[in-house]
Amino acid sequence: MKQFTEEEHVSILADLIAIASVNEGEHEVALYLQKLLAAHDIDSDVIPVDGSTTRSNLFAKIGSGKPTIALSGHMDVVSAGNIDAWTSDPFTLREADGKLYGRGTNDMKAGLLNLVFAMIELKSEGFFNEHEGTIQLMATVGEEVGGAGARQFYQEGYMDDVDALWVTEPSVNDIIYAHKGSMNFRVDSYGEAAHSSLPELGYNAIDKLAEFINTMNERFRSLGRTNDILGDFVINTTVIEGGQQVNSIPESAHIEINARTVPELDNPEVKQIFQELEEAANAGEESQRIKVTCTMDLPSVFTDGASNFIRIMQRVGQEALGYKELPLIASTGVTDAASLLQGKDESFPFAMFGPGETRLAHKVDEYVTKDTYITFTQIVKQVCQQALQEGLH
Ligand SMILES: [Zn+2]
Repeated sequence: MKQFTEEEHVSILADLIAIASVNEGEHEVALYLQKLLAAHDIDSDVIPVDGSTTRSNLFAKIGSGKPTIALSGHMDVVSAGNIDAWTSDPFTLREADGKLYGRGTNDMKAGLLNLVFAMIELKSEGFFNEHEGTIQLMATVGEEVGGAGARQFYQEGYMDDVDALWVTEPSVNDIIYAHKGSMNFRVDSYGEAAHSSLPELGYNAIDKLAEFINTMNERFRSLGRTNDILGDFVINTTVIEGGQQVNSIPESAHIEINARTVPELDNPEVKQIFQELEEAANAGEESQRIKVTCTMDLPSVFTDGASNFIRIMQRVGQEALGYKELPLIASTGVTDAASLLQGKDESFPFAMFGPGETRLAHKVDEYVTKDTYITFTQIVKQVCQQALQEGLH
């Protein structure tokens, strides 16, 4: 019977941290995990994403029959940022005061390993010799940038037979069962250069873009759409760039925009409004001055959090972590669930609950607490066992 020791938890995490899968290179992480699973008699598939040789999803399955619980985590990490600001090399795991430091410890290689370890232990204990049900691992690429891995899993039908989804993103203090969607847009403004003393010979791309920004803000914000649980729809221009030099009328400018969507103002409606704004901006002789491109489109996840699966998770998590309570909450952040849960209804059991802390994600000197990380393998194992025994709903 396999049980991962404290040393193994730490050394395997150190191996994964050393693979600097900064929005690329997840293939190497997938190969590492495939080898680990194979050493414990679990077959897995390394699946290239969008035909890439450096980016691959990983899929593995244990057990058989219904129901199916999908366990998901991403293999990419965000950039280390300013390396000099780190106390030590971000890609060399460092242990101090019961904490494990390194880029991706918290978000979310520890959580990903908990899923892998739990599956290996469940299989080796022979749980599936006596119980019906399937557990499938879906390790993804590119979660931090657009979610290409999750999108491909969804498109290729890996979610079709799934009855519950658990993402172990860092959220050790709360169980998240709903989150907003996220969309990015780029708006290009095309003008015509001229000397700034003779603006009538050109066309000011920045002026045109400024008008667009104002109209857009007014249009969206006046709608006042909100969701009781997720909060307000929000939209913001986050990048602006344009012009060449101070005495020339700018011939081009662009902005980037991020919107956080809710079911009351969902992604298709936002797209529709942008199309109308684009058409209005280009009406009449102003033709083709403004071009809107949607560069990211992740819908919101809205489940009711009322399943037995979530209740079990709450009970097991609370006890294992020694908490008085483990609240169920909605979040503003986005996960791979945005792609994976398309087409599922509100009663679908979904949770984001993992060993790290949301506030430490993407930060310098990111860490996961060693005890929590080790405990989480048992949490994943127990929740899966009990959910397959008691039922998901
Ligand atoms: Zn993450």
